[in-house]
Parts: sequence; structure tokens; C-alpha cells
Amino acid sequence: MRWGPPGLRIAPEVTFPDHAALAAAERWADLAFVEQTGALARRLYSCGCSHWETSVAVDLENDGESPSDPRVPWRCAGHPAPTLPLRLDHGLVVADGTRWDDLVDAVVKGARPRLLGLPRDDPSVWLAWLHHHLEGLPASEPLARAIVRRLDDLDPSALRSVLASPAGRPAR
Ligand SMILES: [Zn+2]
Repeated sequence: MRWGPPGLRIAPEVTFPDHAALAAAERWADLAFVEQTGALARRLYSCGCSHWETSVAVDLENDGESPSDPRVPWRCAGHPAPTLPLRLDHGLVVADGTRWDDLVDAVVKGARPRLLGLPRDDPSVWLAWLHHHLEGLPASEPLARAIVRRLDDLDPSALRSVLASPAGRPAR
């Protein structure tokens, strides 16, 4: 787990930052998708495959009683593929027998798979997130096909923000 100097953040218009670039860069502030802000409480953390931003100071010495208390030391334990059946928010379920067209339709109509603060709240972004979340599972293939069948119903500018991040990946 690495962290940058105070004030850094991922540029708000970047939907999926390039985590490999974060892992490789000596100075995060030099990366085009990282911004220096004046907010000194703001910190950017990355394990190389995901990232975390915070804008509030939290005590590292804590009793661990609150679920939001940080548990240190931090290290990346990997991001394994989820096991099925996978129950997501809004009644979305990924399992053997999932009707993919129905699931994609629900997301297109506003169902959000997780309570995540993605930089852009749009069906394209959520479908990209879900596809990445299922990476490594056979389920990712029928999902991809179902997404392609609905391309005409997705907002072109949101879709562009997903496709314009070839090296970037949404965090599981
Ligand atoms: Zn990681």
C-alpha cells in the first residue's frame, strides 16, 4: 500500500484511473490523471490494483470498534473473483441461470449493483464495474454480450468515459 503527499486526488473526470501507472510512477503528482488540490487532509492511497481517497483525517490509533476505523498495517490481500450466487444491491443476483438481458435492463433503468462512490453515476459505468467485478468467472461473457445488445440505450458520453480508460480498471 502506497500513499501520496497531502492534497492529491484522482481527477474527478477520470472514471477508472490507471492503477498500473500509479504502481509504476515514482511521483503520483506527475501523472496526468492525478490532481494536486489545496486540501491538506486529502490523501490518495493505492495498492497497485485499486485505490482509495479520503478527505478527512482519521486516527490510525483506534480501538477498532467502529467499522470505519482503519486497521493497520494495510496490505493488499488481492481482489479475488466473487463466488456465485452473488447478491448485489437492488435485488440484482448473479447466479447460474441469471437472465442477463433482464439484469442489464435493470441497470439501464437505474438499479445500482453496489453502494459505491463511483466518480460517475451512469449505467455504462455500472455495467463496466460489474463486468470487471466478474472478471475471471464464466458469467462475465454472457454479461458482455447482454451489454452489447443494449449499447443503443446507453449514453454515448458516459460510454466514452468508460472506453477511454483502456489501461484503467474499476476497482472490485
Ligand atoms: Zn490490491
